[in-house]
Amino acid sequence: MTKELEDKIYDVVVIGSGPGGMTAALYASRAELSTLLIERGVPGGQLINTAEVENYSGFSSVTGPDLANNMYAGATRFGAEYTFGDVREIIEGKEYKEVVTANAVFKARSVIISTGAEHKKLGVPGEGTLNGRGVSYCAVCDGAFFRNRHLVVVGGGDSAVEEGTYLTQFASKVTIIHRRDELRAQKILQNRAFNNEKVDFIWDSVVEEVVGENFVEGVQIRNTKTDEVSVVDADGAFIYIGIIPNSKAFQNLGITDEEGWIVTDETMMTSVPGIFAVGDVRKTVLRQVATAVGDGSIAGDNAYKYVESLKEELATARKV
Ligand code: NAP
Repeated sequence: MTKELEDKIYDVVVIGSGPGGMTAALYASRAELSTLLIERGVPGGQLINTAEVENYSGFSSVTGPDLANNMYAGATRFGAEYTFGDVREIIEGKEYKEVVTANAVFKARSVIISTGAEHKKLGVPGEGTLNGRGVSYCAVCDGAFFRNRHLVVVGGGDSAVEEGTYLTQFASKVTIIHRRDELRAQKILQNRAFNNEKVDFIWDSVVEEVVGENFVEGVQIRNTKTDEVSVVDADGAFIYIGIIPNSKAFQNLGITDEEGWIVTDETMMTSVPGIFAVGDVRKTVLRQVATAVGDGSIAGDNAYKYVESLKEELATARKV
């Protein structure tokens, strides 16, 4: 099957099937471009680990996996093909580009990168060794293991506050540890957490170690104002301190900024003609399902324009 896919020159190859990638595939295939969607996990990106989405217009509330399933149905409805693959590199070319995965090479006139972002690690002792033994980055996946237990959540952004509040349906208490005395999260999420009697906060504190023999027993923290060190007993530690872009495979193209976010113009095209980027991997001011979907529609439409003009240009060159 992969051999057949490798022989073909696709109009568009979309790398990654989060909301941005799936929308790009929908727009590209509906415009009758031959489209291949490559994914290294399951379709949905971060939606798969999201309990509830309540800020995507048109749905008063929907679970992340349900929304992902609907998006996948839409993405493949107009003939886009789907294959498993972990993309390692894109090799530039005039007539087509090569999208190199661990075990295949696909040809594409245009490429839309939608590889998203992943959770940042604290990088402290105990975090790695106790990962999966009380250290988690996914409340939806692991929350139910902590019924009537005390949890700490590290971070002060939307994810920490939203997921911390979500965890109270299982935990007896959730303590959010933040390095400043003010949250970064949206006010509506802050207010929900402040009004939840199972949530409390430790301010101005950084986690220096995750403590535990075989399983998390607590976290060692340092107060950034007083330098006082203490241990907070806990049965689990959920870490939500931000995200980093999944863009290592594209560094050779010179399309990322110093932090690795992919820079595009307003058509979602990068500085390499025919290579677009959408969603969380892109340098942008807001990372939401809605913005990724918007990016995907713009990229799908502009990939169509790019492919049409490329085909015209190549046909003219052949005649001369
Ligand atoms: P984020 O917005 O970057 O917040 C990261 C938080 O972790 C900040 O409070 C930051 O502190 C703290 N932090 C960073 N490095 C740290 C370290 N080494 N030690 C301790 N604390 C550290 O990341 P996020 O919450 O994962 O959200 C990612 C993106 O997804 C954001 O754009 C967010 O808006 C979006 N999102 C939206 C929703 C929603 O709309 N419902 C839900 C989840 C995520 P400082 O504040 O001091 O910098």
